[in-house]
Amino acid sequence: MNLKKYRTKSPWILHYNTGSCNGCDVEILACLAPKYDIERFGILNRGNPKQSDILLVTGPVTKRARERLIRLYMEMPEPKVVVAVGVCACTGGVFRGMYNVENGVDKFIPVDVYVPGCAARPENIIDGVVRALEILEKKKKDLQLTRKCTGTEELEYLLGKQLNRRKIVAEGTRRCYESRRD
Ligand code: SF4
Repeated sequence: MNLKKYRTKSPWILHYNTGSCNGCDVEILACLAPKYDIERFGILNRGNPKQSDILLVTGPVTKRARERLIRLYMEMPEPKVVVAVGVCACTGGVFRGMYNVENGVDKFIPVDVYVPGCAARPENIIDGVVRALEILEKKKKDLQLTRKCTGTEELEYLLGKQLNRRKIVAEGTRRCYESRRD
């Protein structure tokens, strides 16, 4: 059975808290509760990275959580989209510069959608997920094009975008291991 079309029609979400105060996590749960009920659109919150399409990250990235964040991202199948929920996930927020915090999520993995706010409002989170779905669809097309593409310039452009994402993860991993040695 071809599952590709269901990945955008009924995306599965992986939610990971990298050190949040729980304010943003409560708002994500509110999206699932009866008032907003995003499950009626087929959007399911699941705990398995291997079955997930969208990674929702809350909180600043603490030193304890950074390697796990990279591992979860790597375990998700392509194409995948990352949404940073709340100002802490976007930039570190009020925890920015603390001794045990590495600031925003984009220092370790590529972020596609930023949802600001402290805490991020459920409406904004839903808006972020809808934008993530558009990006997921685009990435899916890019992947298919890369396989079929014969024009050199177009292929270089598409591969460049994928390479750029991998560079961010490689740089994040290097940063983790370097500071572990200190
Ligand atoms: S953005 Fe605000 S509510 Fe969300 S994790 Fe940071 S401090 Fe908590």
